[in-house]
Amino acid sequence: MKRVIALVDCDSFFVTCEQVVEPTLKGKPVCVISNNEGCVIARSKEAKQLGVRMGQPYFMAKKEFPNAIYIKAEHERYDWFSKRVMDCLKTFSPDVEVYSIDEAFIDLTGTRKLYGKNYTEICKMIKSEIKTKTDIDVSIGISHSKTLAKLASDKAKTRGGIYSIGAFRIKEELRRTEISEVWGVGRKINIFCQKWGILSALDYIKRSDDWLKKELGKNGLELKHELLGECISSVESKTEPPKSIQKTSAIMGFTSDINVIKSEISKHIHRACSKLRRWNGKCSKVGVMLRTKDFYVYSRYKDLLQPTNFELTVRKEIEELLMSIYSPDKIYRSSGVMLETLSYNDSEQLYIFDSTSEKDEKLAKCIDRIEEKFGKNSIKAGYYK
Ligand SMILES: [Mg+2]
Repeated sequence: MKRVIALVDCDSFFVTCEQVVEPTLKGKPVCVISNNEGCVIARSKEAKQLGVRMGQPYFMAKKEFPNAIYIKAEHERYDWFSKRVMDCLKTFSPDVEVYSIDEAFIDLTGTRKLYGKNYTEICKMIKSEIKTKTDIDVSIGISHSKTLAKLASDKAKTRGGIYSIGAFRIKEELRRTEISEVWGVGRKINIFCQKWGILSALDYIKRSDDWLKKELGKNGLELKHELLGECISSVESKTEPPKSIQKTSAIMGFTSDINVIKSEISKHIHRACSKLRRWNGKCSKVGVMLRTKDFYVYSRYKDLLQPTNFELTVRKEIEELLMSIYSPDKIYRSSGVMLETLSYNDSEQLYIFDSTSEKDEKLAKCIDRIEEKFGKNSIKAGYYK
């Protein structure tokens, strides 16, 4: 039996998140700017129409399109919305592969009986449920392999949000698709294909298995079968917990001020620890990093006596490290925090002298619940001496 796979892709995701938080931004030319390079990384439909380009440096965009609205990226916010979209998706099928922050594959094979609807109608239901629960619009592509589902989702963007490539329409669809539009076909493969006169995806599948395998290897051959609607790469619902967590960002206006740096570091610790707690993990090693104005990097790590995900404990250790690398006569441009040697609940050892008191854990859980209710960074640790 052929599998039925859908790719759910949030539309202009970062911008949409900003518009949900600040509804007055809806219908306006909005651009989200990356923290480190200061480039446009997301645009609303209106900003696209205005002509703002993806990756355009902020200072150029601002000069060229002074009427657009520019917003600094808030990645924790996008993580939060992403999780809500994915959670909603998981209520429709257990087989969800979170592919990126704003895209997920979902295996819908067999759900037709469950819902008593065809697959397009099921996807309409998914789309409206996500909209109701998160206020985020998604485009959904449906087909029989991940590669075709991805292609369908690209087409869905301009065709009302849902697009299906059924078995009988595959060849017609491939004929109208340039090979460069296919998922996984990068610049190099595209140049190779052009050289051999493979211009459309249909030209590609006409090549023999032997030839593709010889010229492009196993992946090249698998691509052909994915394009034919065979599910070679299945939807992998298991997501690996992170091996380490880094939080870094540029400091607004370079500084030597230790209080500014401490406050930045404190934010990083908070974000890193909440992420660790979301995964039910603990870290046994912490590190801190400072980058100077002229790009020298200073960093230092420390092994902890016992694993923790409690931010006040982590902060105590990191502040010590920070003071050992900080120098008041240097100017710093960015800072970061690293949590490493992570362990997860099922593999955790018992520590006889466990000083992470029940009180600390309760406090951490409480912080998480408050954030869930009132939004990211609605609560954070203050300074204590
Ligand atoms: Mg998207």
